Amino acid sequence: LGRKLNAALSSLNRIPVVDEKVLDTLLKEVCAALLESDINVKLVSQLRQKVRTKVKAAFESGGEKVKEANRKNIVQKAVFDELVNLVDPGIDPYKPKKGYSNVIMAVGLQGNGKTTTCTKLAVHYQKRGFKSSIVCADTFRAGAFDQTRQSATKAKVAYFGSYTETDPVTIAAQGVAKFKKEKFEVIIVDTSGRHKQESELFEEMRQIGNAGQAAEAQSRAFKESADFGAIIVTKMDGHAKGGGAISAVAATKTPIIFLGTGEHLTDLDRFSPQPFISKLLGLGDVQGLMEHMQDLATQNPDRQKEMAKKLEEGKLSIRDWREQIQNVMNLGPISKIASMIPGLPQDLLQGSDEEGALRMKRMIYITDSMSSEELDSDGSLFMEFAKDGKPIGLTWRVSRVARGSGTTVREVEELLCQYRMMANMAKQAGGKNGWLQAMQKVQ
Ligand code: GDP
Ligand code: MG
Repeated sequence: LGRKLNAALSSLNRIPVVDEKVLDTLLKEVCAALLESDINVKLVSQLRQKVRTKVKAAFESGGEKVKEANRKNIVQKAVFDELVNLVDPGIDPYKPKKGYSNVIMAVGLQGNGKTTTCTKLAVHYQKRGFKSSIVCADTFRAGAFDQTRQSATKAKVAYFGSYTETDPVTIAAQGVAKFKKEKFEVIIVDTSGRHKQESELFEEMRQIGNAGQAAEAQSRAFKESADFGAIIVTKMDGHAKGGGAISAVAATKTPIIFLGTGEHLTDLDRFSPQPFISKLLGLGDVQGLMEHMQDLATQNPDRQKEMAKKLEEGKLSIRDWREQIQNVMNLGPISKIASMIPGLPQDLLQGSDEEGALRMKRMIYITDSMSSEELDSDGSLFMEFAKDGKPIGLTWRVSRVARGSGTTVREVEELLCQYRMMANMAKQAGGKNGWLQAMQKVQ
């Protein structure tokens, strides 16, 4: 879905004149991509209508004076904003309160990832200072309590359950009462997620062959039987990337709070509409990246804030950049982090995570051989300039660094090139008039 939407939006850049016909063609492509991901027809036609109205109003308000480049921006931004609206029901997402016993119940189809997600959630809240616990009220699945016990133990989270009690309501009541008494602030109740009398309903869902429509039917059915306040979309690392999330929000008008992105305990990402669409379109997710980094650097949040500011202002030195690369290396699999970095050179993403890590290590070796002065520079020390300011070549410093780091001149050159690209891009994206700012501005 993301690739198709991005292709449609980028096609505008090759068209000299943006008129109504171009807009219609673009909207056709966008809508086709959405429909293909099984997003409700009504929703798609609403989006088309809204974009058209918005674009027309913007074109007309500027009269003939709306410049070509601007017209493209207007169209791209209108589509982007409407995509964001699809996953934004306009309701503040759920937040547990400190000092209270916040009880959270997980509902969803069997195998959807509830038990896994319960532990991820407990870990997430525990990290943020909430005393957290899990109650296993799944008496339907054999071994459910063992599963909870194992993952909760691994995560160092308190848990409650029973091998003998067969009534889920009784277990839930006991567990919640116990943890409330013990002043737990987050109490997560894991359920089997299905009830016998609903079996017909679930059979019906199963028969709806494809994933996107199923997401909509499931969400609506669950919303009707258990009025939930927040959605967690699991298995976002799988292939059904955006469609399910969009359908779930549309069918229930309920905000998504997290995305499950893998089988590990830390594979839980906070959801926000704009970065989600940005990432879906392959535009990166600077905000998400910063959040990840802040998570990592909780021991030094001020430094990260400073970094973000420097990045936005285009003042990131090689030394800062190297620190960020090191941070990224500590964050986990490069493939996951890489998708958050806008415009990252594709070759850095190629190959396995091990290869990516190795490439980053070599980048660190290279910077290790730079002097303090060089590290604090913006890279221009490595270049020779003509009188008119045009770069004409590299200085002796490059071969010195190559020799010192046991790499080649070519590799050092490449590193400098990547740094320049990053710095320029960050400036363009983050600067006052950058598209990132324009798109992420909350309206
Ligand atoms: P439940 O029946 O709803 O409780 O589902 P489980 O938590 O037992 O998960 C079912 C399977 O999905 C397990 O093998 C999990 O490891 C896997 N799983 C859960 N969440 C994710 C996720 O976000 N990504 C991936 N790839 N697998 C997941
Ligand atoms: Mg389960």
